[in-house]
Amino acid sequence: MPSSARAGNLKDPEVADLFCKDDPEKLFADLREIGHGSFGAVYFARDVRNNEVVAIKKMSYSGKQTNEKWQDIIKEVKFLQKLRHPNTIEYRGCYLKEHTAWLVMEYCLGSASDLLEVHKKPLQEIEIAAITHGALQGLAYLHSHNMIHRDVKAGNILLTEPGQVKLGDFGSASIVAPANSFVGTPYWMAPEVILAMDEGQYDGKVDVWSLGITSIELAERKPPLFNMNAMSALYHIAQNESPILQSNHWSDSFRNFVDSCLQKIPQDRPTSDVLLNHRFLCRERPLTVIMDLIARTKDAVRELDNLQYRKMKKILYQEKHNGPMGESQEEEEDSEAASCKMNSLGSNHSIPSTSVSTGSQSSSVNSMQEVDDSCSDMTMMHPQDYSSTLESSPHTKKDHQYTWDDGIHRDPRAGLRPASSDKSSQAQNYKNQGRFATIKSASLVTKQIHEHEQESELREQMSGYKRMRRQHQKQ
Ligand code: ADP
Ligand code: MG
Repeated sequence: MPSSARAGNLKDPEVADLFCKDDPEKLFADLREIGHGSFGAVYFARDVRNNEVVAIKKMSYSGKQTNEKWQDIIKEVKFLQKLRHPNTIEYRGCYLKEHTAWLVMEYCLGSASDLLEVHKKPLQEIEIAAITHGALQGLAYLHSHNMIHRDVKAGNILLTEPGQVKLGDFGSASIVAPANSFVGTPYWMAPEVILAMDEGQYDGKVDVWSLGITSIELAERKPPLFNMNAMSALYHIAQNESPILQSNHWSDSFRNFVDSCLQKIPQDRPTSDVLLNHRFLCRERPLTVIMDLIARTKDAVRELDNLQYRKMKKILYQEKHNGPMGESQEEEEDSEAASCKMNSLGSNHSIPSTSVSTGSQSSSVNSMQEVDDSCSDMTMMHPQDYSSTLESSPHTKKDHQYTWDDGIHRDPRAGLRPASSDKSSQAQNYKNQGRFATIKSASLVTKQIHEHEQESELREQMSGYKRMRRQHQKQ
C-alpha cells in the first residue's frame, strides 16, 4: 500500500484538498445525535458563523482496519463533493479531528423510512409518486454521470423542510459504471448484483430495481421477502419471479411502474431517464404533497413524544414519592406504552440486515412546545430509524456503545428502561430537543438500538457468503 493511502495521511495534495483545515469543534455547536449508521453517528448541528443548521456525519478512522476506513471516507467525500443536483444531498465540507472525519451536509428532517415508522401504515399513492419521482430525478442525474448509488431504499431517501426529496448516503456508491462488486442492502438488491461475478457487470439499472423495491416498501411498509433471512432473500431474488404489489387497490399506473422497475433482465428494464416519463410519475398531483406529508408526520411525532413524556413524568413522580420502581411496575409501564403504540419494537423488523442506524431522539419543534411545563425537563431514549447496508466497509464494525453529547457512554440496550438512578440525568440529554425540526419520533431510537444488536450476526453470515463467492470466482 502506498504511504499516501495510510489513514490520516495528507501528503497527497489531492487528498489534502478534500479537507478544510479549521477545527470543526470551533465551527459547529449544539450537536445532537439524529441518526446512527454503520460508520458512526449523524448529528444535527449549527454553524456558528452563520447560524445555519447542518447535518454532520462523524466517521472515525481509529481502531481496527484504519486504512480501509480512511479509504472509505475519502471515497464518500470525493463522491459527495462532485454532486450538484436538487435531488442529491448538498455537501458543505469535511474536517478532520482526532482520527474522525466530520462530513458536513445540508440538514434534512429525516428519511422516507422514518415516515413509515411514525405512521405505522403505508403512504398514499400520490405521496409515493412524489417521493419516487424526486429520488428518480436524483438517480437520473447520477446515471448521466456514470455513477451508481447502489443502496437505494427508503432509509436513504431524505426529506427537507421545504418538501424536497434528496438522495443521501453515498457510502456504497460507485463512481464508475459498469461495476461488479457485491454491494447494497440484500432485500433491495437487483438480481444482477447478486449474480455478478468477476465477468458479470451491472450499471445504473440496479438503482432502478432498488427504486421499484422501495416503492413497494412505501406501499407495504417493508420490502418484499423481509420476513425471510437476508441470505434466503438473496437466493430468492436471484432465482424467482419479480415481486409485485400485493393489494389490488393500487392504480394500474402504479402497478405498471413497479413492474417496469422490477424487470429481471436488465435489458428489459427502463433506464432512469426513460422511467422519468412514466405516467405514474407524470400524473398531476398537488405541489404540496410532500409538505402536507411532513406536516402530518410532525403532528404524529408530537403526539407520540407527548405520550413518552407523560410516561416519563409518571415514572419520575412515582420514584420521587415511592422510591425506585420495581421490575414489575416498570413492566406495567412498558405494556402501557406498547398499548399506546409508542414503542415500535413490535413491527416486522424481525430480520435485520447488515448494519443498523440509530436515529433521532428528538421530536419536532412543535412537539416540545406543547409538552406540559412540568415535564419539560424530562426525556426518554428514542431509538429509531432502521437501515441496513451490506458492504465491505470496516465502518460496519462498530461497537454497541452510544455516546451522547455529554460524552457519557450508555448502553443502548437500556433502551426505554435506563437505570433508574440515571433518569434525571437522561432528562438533561433531551432538554434541547425542541430546538430543531425533525420527522423522527423518539421511540424509534429504542427500536433501532435493539435491532442493532442482531447486526453483527448477520454481517458474519454475509462476509461468509462473500468469501464463498470469492472462492467460487477463483475456481
Ligand atoms: P449509513 O451508511 O450508515 O446508512 P447514512 O448516511 O444513511 O449512513 O446516515 C444514517 C442516518 O442518519 C440516515 O438514515 C438518516 O436518518 C440520518 N441522516 C443522514 N444524513 C442526514 C442529513 N443530511 N440530514 C438529516 N439526517 C441525516
Ligand atoms: Mg443509510
